[in-house]
Amino acid sequence: MRYGEVAHFSHPQHRLRLEHLDTPFRCDGCREVGIGARFRCAADDVDLHRQCALPLHPPPPPLRHPFYPRCAFHFMARAPGAPGSRYCNACGRDVAGFVYHCRDCGFDLHPCCATLPHVLDAGGGGVRLYLHPKAAAACHRCGQRGRSWTYRSGCRSYSLHVACVMDMLVESWGAVGRHKQHGGGGSSALYLYGVPPIRGAAKSSHAGGSPAPSSSSSSSSYWGMGRRKKKKGSKVKRCCEIAGFAAQVVISAVLGDPTALIAGVIGSLIAI
Ligand SMILES: [Zn+2]
Ligand SMILES: [Zn+2]
Ligand SMILES: [Zn+2]
Ligand SMILES: [Zn+2]
Ligand SMILES: [Zn+2]
Repeated sequence: MRYGEVAHFSHPQHRLRLEHLDTPFRCDGCREVGIGARFRCAADDVDLHRQCALPLHPPPPPLRHPFYPRCAFHFMARAPGAPGSRYCNACGRDVAGFVYHCRDCGFDLHPCCATLPHVLDAGGGGVRLYLHPKAAAACHRCGQRGRSWTYRSGCRSYSLHVACVMDMLVESWGAVGRHKQHGGGGSSALYLYGVPPIRGAAKSSHAGGSPAPSSSSSSSSYWGMGRRKKKKGSKVKRCCEIAGFAAQVVISAVLGDPTALIAGVIGSLIAI
């Protein structure tokens, strides 16, 4: 087998090749979206996150996660129980395919959520984002605290739920790869419409009361570029200055490829 190729139980007909593409894809393992690096069979339009290209036999060693120190998460092609009955403890979304499952307590994690980096570099100025199991401050997008795992800046002025990033992606890219036709070299709809923008990434919960539709022109101020006056409060100002780049970094991490290159691609996708 050549470097960058993998034989995978989910698609035994062909080997999957590691490719780096700027287009989003729907992972045929976990059923969530991704961008950047993926294992792909171009002939059959099959894609897997790198995090999902694991074998069942022999099973990989159980994954340990610092947020659940007593859990041993086993990689499975599907979680036990009825379809639609399980959700990811990191992002809150349904588990519809490959999953890490703890048999003792029943916790589930999407493969990409299980491997979210604990620290992300949010661009210049030394801003770093740290992954926390709970939000200690209001999320920049929804204004709530609870809900899901959260990335928070070291200065604590910026927080963004992993669940809110997922919502943005579903709203913007929900159709990506949903109509894949496997076998017979079906063409991927996603390449027909290119890379759709991520709507709502430029939305702030404190940009003026209730969140406005993403097409709102007020979003420019969110990027620190608007001419309108900043809201009072240096914390809010600081938060919004961080927000533009931080959202890009968190989105690319949630999509399974938290590299600088992808962050740049994501930047061009975000609708402002
Ligand atoms: Zn996947
Ligand atoms: Zn194939
Ligand atoms: Zn457990
Ligand atoms: Zn998840
Ligand atoms: Zn939120």
